[in-house]
Amino acid sequence: MAKVKLATVWLEACAGCHMSFLDIDDRILGLLEKVDIMYSPVVDAKEIPKVDIGVISGALGNDEEVHLAKKMREQCDILIAWGDCAVFGGINSMRNFMPAEEALKKAYVDTVSTVNPEGIIPGEDIPQLLPKAIPVDQVVKVDVYVPGCPPDADTILWVFQELLEGRIPKVPAEMMRYD
Ligand code: SF4
Repeated sequence: MAKVKLATVWLEACAGCHMSFLDIDDRILGLLEKVDIMYSPVVDAKEIPKVDIGVISGALGNDEEVHLAKKMREQCDILIAWGDCAVFGGINSMRNFMPAEEALKKAYVDTVSTVNPEGIIPGEDIPQLLPKAIPVDQVVKVDVYVPGCPPDADTILWVFQELLEGRIPKVPAEMMRYD
């Protein structure tokens, strides 16, 4: 039987969700008997190919992330929002209480660890900030939600097992973890 093809992307996020994926430890070997990871921060691939399952970790906070989320939707039959940042916006939403320009000024000028005497804020050469950081499903349809910060490794493995059995998983409350 052909292996299921998987792509994962890491958008406005920390590494935690992908680290939790790797925390399934040696059970990843069993998963890899059934799944090919075609595109991911954990493999070296340049383009998002057509795949069966796509995973997005992270919120959408700039125009590049919106583009990548749309690309994932185009290329993935089933799309998973993985982790609180992707599902709800997560910690990225803390900036939503101020205008995007003020958030940029805080990040590039005001923080005590920043040395930027000319007050330069990068503009054209970097992805443009959205007015707010938003969950993935505000831009593209999501098929599976996996809350948690990060989702537990056992929960991630269970989600894949359910999908491999042909079921669309609904993560029960007792499997949601916030470590
Ligand atoms: S949900 Fe938590 S662990 Fe995952 S990317 Fe967001 S902050 Fe990191």
